[in-house]
Amino acid sequence: MLMLIAHNIYIHVPFCISKCNYCAFFSRACTKPDWQLYENNIIKEIEFWSQKLGKINIPTIFFGGGTPSLMPPETFNKIISKISSAFSIDDKCEITLEANPGTINSEKLSDFINAGVNRLSIGVQSLDDEKLKFLGRRHNSQTALTLIKIAQKKNVRLSADFIYGLPNETIKDVIKTCKEINSLGLTHCSMYELTIEPFTPFGKMNLQMPSNEEMADMYSTISETLKLPRYEVSNYAMLGEECRHNLNVWDGQPYIGLGQAAAGRILIENQWYEQLGNNEKFERLSDIARAEERIITGLRQVRGVYLDSDIKKIINMQYIKSNPDLLQVNSDGRLVTTEKGMLILDDLILNLVR
Ligand code: SF4
Repeated sequence: MLMLIAHNIYIHVPFCISKCNYCAFFSRACTKPDWQLYENNIIKEIEFWSQKLGKINIPTIFFGGGTPSLMPPETFNKIISKISSAFSIDDKCEITLEANPGTINSEKLSDFINAGVNRLSIGVQSLDDEKLKFLGRRHNSQTALTLIKIAQKKNVRLSADFIYGLPNETIKDVIKTCKEINSLGLTHCSMYELTIEPFTPFGKMNLQMPSNEEMADMYSTISETLKLPRYEVSNYAMLGEECRHNLNVWDGQPYIGLGQAAAGRILIENQWYEQLGNNEKFERLSDIARAEERIITGLRQVRGVYLDSDIKKIINMQYIKSNPDLLQVNSDGRLVTTEKGMLILDDLILNLVR
């Protein structure tokens, strides 16, 4: 008999009104997406996984993009109803919707909440109109602030994303942004360093970016100035307000990816599979590859990664003993990265994994 193992669900919504200058996510500019076709495809994928995995429990669902808030609430409703009949949605299931200011008003947000959304993640990116224009965002700071205020009056948990490290940005600018964020009364926010990706408008612009040292100073300044504690490299939250979907995925729980280009990690009969954005494409993943992934996502978290036998097999314990300023094992048996280690995480992982 098939063993039923809980899986989280990530649903990708690959449409945006226009492309931002820095964006390398899988999404396309589209003013009138074919939502019926989108819904039909997602429903087919749900049916595929329900046949493979059985009536599994679903602890979290995350609609990411793209711009999921462009979706009509009826489409969202049909997808959630299908998940509910195909699987078993946990009573306390966290259902997150990513939203861009200007694509959702109070009424539409209420419709999403009535259909099951209980966490909203708003792409604010900056509170400075010049910077928003430079980034290629379609909204201004006032539209973003209005959406935050609307959401704060409703029965929904809230997060907002910001970008730092723009060309010519200074520590003073970063302090100003953090103080403004503090004044908004948010319980969760994400602070992403601007990275320049090839094949984006920024990738072709030869921008003068802050140096690595300046970026590291900005990173430290953010955790010193924000009132919310950091729980992952880019994420800050009051205790209990962390994104449960991400925590589960970073801790190595299985998840299904639905929608074009959505990836997943499926667990069937004790064997891991890598799922690559299309139902038919899923391949076995070795225990070593899976342990490596768990180290990468685990060490990005402040609470670290549990040192189980699979992880112990592939890491250099001597490296941990010789570098207590970078890595430590805590009393729960978790390997945690120190503040200094977080600044050189990629190199640290290269040295740690044998
Ligand atoms: S809204 Fe988000 S996904 Fe869409 S283009 Fe901008 S950054 Fe990319």
